[in-house]
Amino acid sequence: MAVVEEYYDVVVVGAGHAGCEAALAAARMGLKTIVFTVSMDSIALMPCNPNVGGSSKGHLVREIDALGGEMGKNIDKTYIQSKMLNASKGPAVHSLRAQADKVEYTKQMRLTMQKEENLTIRQAEVSELIIENDVLTGVKTFSGAIYHARAAVLCTGTYLKARCIYGDVVNHTGPNGLQAANHLSESMKENGIYIRRFKTGTPARLDKKSIDFSKMEEQKGDEHIVPFSFTNTEEDIKREQISCWLTYTNEKTHDIIKANIDRSPLYSGFIEGTGPRYCPSIEDKVMKFPDKNRHQLFIEPEGEFTNEMYMGGMSSSLPEDVQYEMIRTVPGLENVIITRNAYAIEYDCISAIDLKPSLEFKKVSGLFSAGQINGSSGYEEAAAQGIMAGINAARKVKGEEPVVIDRSEGYIGVLIDDLVTKETAEPYRMMTSRSEYRLLLRQDNADLRLTDIGHEIGLIDEERYAKFCEKREQINSEIERLNSVMIGANRNTQEFLLSHESSELKTAASLSELIRRPELSYEMVAPLDPERPEGLSSEVMNQINISIKYEGYIVRQKQQVEHFKKLEKRRIPADINYDEVHNLRKEAIQKLKMVKPESIGQASRISGVSPADISVLMVYLSAK
Ligand SMILES: Cc1cc2nc3c(=O)[nH]c(=O)nc-3n(C[C@H](O)[C@H](O)[C@H](O)COP(=O)(O)OP(=O)(O)OC[C@H]3O[C@@H](n4cnc5c(N)ncnc54)[C@H](O)[C@@H]3O)c2cc1C
Repeated sequence: MAVVEEYYDVVVVGAGHAGCEAALAAARMGLKTIVFTVSMDSIALMPCNPNVGGSSKGHLVREIDALGGEMGKNIDKTYIQSKMLNASKGPAVHSLRAQADKVEYTKQMRLTMQKEENLTIRQAEVSELIIENDVLTGVKTFSGAIYHARAAVLCTGTYLKARCIYGDVVNHTGPNGLQAANHLSESMKENGIYIRRFKTGTPARLDKKSIDFSKMEEQKGDEHIVPFSFTNTEEDIKREQISCWLTYTNEKTHDIIKANIDRSPLYSGFIEGTGPRYCPSIEDKVMKFPDKNRHQLFIEPEGEFTNEMYMGGMSSSLPEDVQYEMIRTVPGLENVIITRNAYAIEYDCISAIDLKPSLEFKKVSGLFSAGQINGSSGYEEAAAQGIMAGINAARKVKGEEPVVIDRSEGYIGVLIDDLVTKETAEPYRMMTSRSEYRLLLRQDNADLRLTDIGHEIGLIDEERYAKFCEKREQINSEIERLNSVMIGANRNTQEFLLSHESSELKTAASLSELIRRPELSYEMVAPLDPERPEGLSSEVMNQINISIKYEGYIVRQKQQVEHFKKLEKRRIPADINYDEVHNLRKEAIQKLKMVKPESIGQASRISGVSPADISVLMVYLSAK
């Protein structure tokens, strides 16, 4: 029987949030790329929350955009509400969050991918890896077709051996009833890849016309929109927004859950997979926080042309009858109609410490992995890994060194370093508290941190790069000018300062010194600064304000980064024999052998490796 045989440079298994970024990156870097999905109609599907961004996740999306990825542009085209979270707090925790029209999101991403010259999209289940002498040479589909390739990226998400559960109902499908991928896990195991089970959950969907919004608090979007993509301005994407709604569970809701907890597959042990601590089910919230008499619920539109509303904060796997009973105790949902039940999904995934910081498997050359399969959770986390794995698969094929974003350069670096260095016992969700350099890794300066890299690897074109360089030059030259322009302590200045309830000047001061005052800003001191350039964008002015006002903190963090980079530069030879390193503790030897860190910096972040172990190792390496 003739077998289909095709030849590509890069194969991407999965067209979810990771797979789309990986495939686009490899294709845009000039490589013949094919991306597989079990359903052409589920490209970049959002099986859970209808939003992109939020605390620290917004940072990831802006970093993906700064590198030349697609997620930021795609949500700017398809958002139905946008908000800057934590706007009243410091810039380090400002985070963009946008509600997406799910159907539009999938459609626009598919359109973008279909237009990509070097990219082919294929509906087929990949069932086998073809590996010869620890080198990836292709994949096979369930139909037996062979796709030869010089690199592959696994982005299988929540589909590998997936099963969806609520109460005692089990469907052996992927999300939304899509086909599960039931064959690839075996092939991975046969090639020595360790597989484990994780789980996550989603809430019920509700019919909008059965909801009484008068009993809820309306949550509107921001008046002024900040685009996710640095290629867009507010004018480019401005549109009418749709509201979300806030309501709460109550004692009655909690009593119903407690009364039926024995019927929860989560608490009966029927669900084996490990779930995300930071996206807990409502069962977990009620059982683990018994003192809380109510939990917030955000009722969010799933799109402009659908009646379905997402019930944020109430993911569950309780039986259907319990879902109806508990949901109808919530104010505004007394007569609600459920359109889709809440459920939990279990799926196969790998342990990311089997990967290098480039996201290539240590055991299989040319095989990369990104997204939920790596033990992370969230569209943004998946997309961030996807773009890096796509870039590195492409560079592998081109015989170029991998690109690794380190912890001081981006949340993408924090995410991947945590995954490949620290064993994650549950789905990993990004948080700003995971970064040591939050003030440097803000969502507003992602381009200043990463666009040079995006340009160097060929994902940022010349036109965009020129605009970016002009913006950076505007920021730097204006800050320099503000540091040098002195304002005299004359009557005009004193009147200006008093009118802004700011203390009088005793002697002349630079404009920067004035801007540094909490009650003043770059925009406000304009009357004292007739020479300032015209037409600077709000983004540029925002950068000027933050750089000047937080200068002291920023300088200190940059000093910490210098120390961090020194340890990152101390490379550990791949063939090191840790048994030879005298005075290294047993536990440290065991962990170092398992993780195989590439640098002293990475070694120092492995749990179970102490600072004393690091000193011993450094002495050994210097002697060597
Ligand atoms: C029920 C549910 C609840 C969730 N709850 C949350 C939550 O509360 N918080 C949160 O942050 N995230 C949640 N998520 C996770 C979120 O959906 C994922 O993080 C995100 O979609 C992961 O993106 P990905 O690209 O890794 O994989 P996915 O988006 O899952 O995409 C995987 C892709 O791989 C394809 N595929 C898989 N195997 C094969 C194969 N063998 N051959 C061909 N194609 C294949 C699929 O067709 C699909 O295109 C939830 C997901 C689900 C399903």
